[in-house]
Amino acid sequence: MKAYAMLKIGSTGWIEKDYPTCGPLDAIVKPIALAPCTSDVHTVWAGAIGDRHNLTLGHEGVGEVVEVGSLVQDFKPGDKVIVPAITPDWNSLEAQAGYSMHSHGMLAGWKYSNIKDGMFSEFFHVNDADGNLALIPDGIDPGDATMFSDMVPTGFHGVELADVHFGDVVAVIGIGPVGLMAVAGAALRGASRLFAVGSRPACSKVAVEYGATDIINYREGDIVEQILKKNGKPVDRVIIAGGDNDTFAQAIRILKPGGSIGNVNYLGEGEFIKIPRVDWGVGMGHKAINGGLMPGGRLRMEKLSAMMVHGRLDTSKLVTHRFHGFDKIEEALNMMRNKQPDLIKPVVYLD
Ligand code: NDP
Ligand code: ZN
Repeated sequence: MKAYAMLKIGSTGWIEKDYPTCGPLDAIVKPIALAPCTSDVHTVWAGAIGDRHNLTLGHEGVGEVVEVGSLVQDFKPGDKVIVPAITPDWNSLEAQAGYSMHSHGMLAGWKYSNIKDGMFSEFFHVNDADGNLALIPDGIDPGDATMFSDMVPTGFHGVELADVHFGDVVAVIGIGPVGLMAVAGAALRGASRLFAVGSRPACSKVAVEYGATDIINYREGDIVEQILKKNGKPVDRVIIAGGDNDTFAQAIRILKPGGSIGNVNYLGEGEFIKIPRVDWGVGMGHKAINGGLMPGGRLRMEKLSAMMVHGRLDTSKLVTHRFHGFDKIEEALNMMRNKQPDLIKPVVYLD
């Protein structure tokens, strides 16, 4: 079968792969809609997790179940499903301890396009199908539903990591699709003032629609100065969904003592992140830094997609480019790499 793969660091292409084997707890899924991710870009072009050879890319998709293992109880061929980017082993000790994303090792719940072939393929494998799949709710477009694989749960996990409460003043640094979902999640959690940091007008417009009260352009001056001046004091919570290793220093500087940072940004380069000693209260400032991979799981997918069913969240605003045909994956991935001004997220329908 045909697959679009990372050939080695800095190089991608079409390859032939064997049809996957379905174990007793597993499912095989034929994709209906797929989306490339900024994380695929970090993995291929920054070599952020080391080299990979002929590894199928892609971890955001919805599809039709074509085969299930003998022990799968709740899914059958023909079901249309959301497949999360993170597919933990739910019987692992880490998952039992509440850290499903680290099942069987740090970040090892992240299997697609990391430790096993991803979804950019004619068919792909899903481990622990009952724990990891969720039915696409009726009435949701498959392209919009792909946003539940990664963008929604990751942005919302940033909100959980930053521990946003009613009335908090929140800054979201980075408003690509992940940051935009952090904006939406923080607004739903009751943020009072909500700063959104980015530069592309397409993203800023949608950030306001998702609930941002103030747009900060990082290209127009230091974001620390801009936010402290506008807010008059440090903020309660910061969510990092963009920027680089220096962004941590800025996040610490705009955060109040007792505040918290939720990082979901994938740091693709460099040895260390920067924590400014004095602004961190010389080590005693109670400025918490929580960085995390989203947990994955069927329950989370069902709950988040129900927010769309009941009108709390509209993921269609994220999808600025819709392609048709599997061969368009390459173009869509290159768009994610080049980030043209009007891009938030492309999806590819396999019809
Ligand atoms: P995008 O590249 O689309 O968005 C990045 C955002 O950061 C943009 O708004 C960009 O602004 C902004 N930005 C860039 N540089 C700076 C800077 N120096 N200071 C402030 N803001 C800046 O990325 P995505 O939304 O697709 O993904 C965000 C991150 O989340 C990526 O690192 C991705 O790999 C990671 N990720 C993490 C996951 C997890 O589970 N933890 C899962 C999925 C993704 P603009 O472009 O407007 O100039
Ligand atoms: Zn992703």
